[in-house]
Amino acid sequence: MASLIAKHKPPRAEILGGISALLVWKLAQYERDLRDQLIQAEKLASIGTMASGIAHEINNPLFGITGLSERLEHETRPEIVKEYVQDIMEMSRRIAAIVKDLNVYAHKSSAETRCDIDVNHTIEEAMKMARRACVLDEVKVQTEFSALPPIRANPDELLQVFVNIVTNAVQAMEGQGTLVLTTSSANGSIRATVRDTGPGIPQHLLGKIFDPFFTTKEQGKGTGLGLHIVRDIVIRLGGRVKAESAPGMGACFTVELPVTSG
Ligand code: ADP
Repeated sequence: MASLIAKHKPPRAEILGGISALLVWKLAQYERDLRDQLIQAEKLASIGTMASGIAHEINNPLFGITGLSERLEHETRPEIVKEYVQDIMEMSRRIAAIVKDLNVYAHKSSAETRCDIDVNHTIEEAMKMARRACVLDEVKVQTEFSALPPIRANPDELLQVFVNIVTNAVQAMEGQGTLVLTTSSANGSIRATVRDTGPGIPQHLLGKIFDPFFTTKEQGKGTGLGLHIVRDIVIRLGGRVKAESAPGMGACFTVELPVTSG
């Protein structure tokens, strides 16, 4: 190791040893822990904004279960009882699936765990989360996915990249418009785009949206951390993210990630 460091160090750079090396190492670890905490905090904040959507989604089957149970109390015909019980089981499973998705999203993971990921699958998962967060009934979703080589990343972090971008797009469209999701791969990298038909991003703000705490949303609705975290994760994966927008033409976010192994 020492010879490797000596070979690659710039001529005038000093090699730290002893306490200083330990200090730098500890600082690097502290920085990583802080970054993990920030990602987790933003995740919890986005779950906060999902809460009303979730309440709506859980309420419907819950309402059904309550209604059917009341009817069951007085029902004596075996075939009808069976039918009601099956419906109740189906609705309970739906609630369980919603809760399971949320648990997967909310749980804290270490940035260290990387594995091979199909980005198409991650985008589909992100759409599921966005459906929990916002009303998507009147949003047309178009997907143009290409078969992709796997990329090596932490699945939770990559999910958060697309949850943040897709949720922003849906919120910008205020429940109405078209969301176009495309993926492709070329020259050792994959590219994913999320295009919306919302009001777009004014030119003078395009350079600011990735800054921490920059938000145009009203208090309590936005943390201003979503895109900052998106960029942080993408850069750590060796990729890049850019936003484009022309007045009245909506916004388009492009994420490029290298196909690497190891
Ligand atoms: P937050 O969503 O909490 O405001 P973000 O960092 O995710 O924080 O986004 C920062 C800002 O970027 C948003 O407040 C919004 O002004 C702008 N923005 C992001 N995505 C879009 C989009 N698809 N359309 C219009 N504006 C957007």
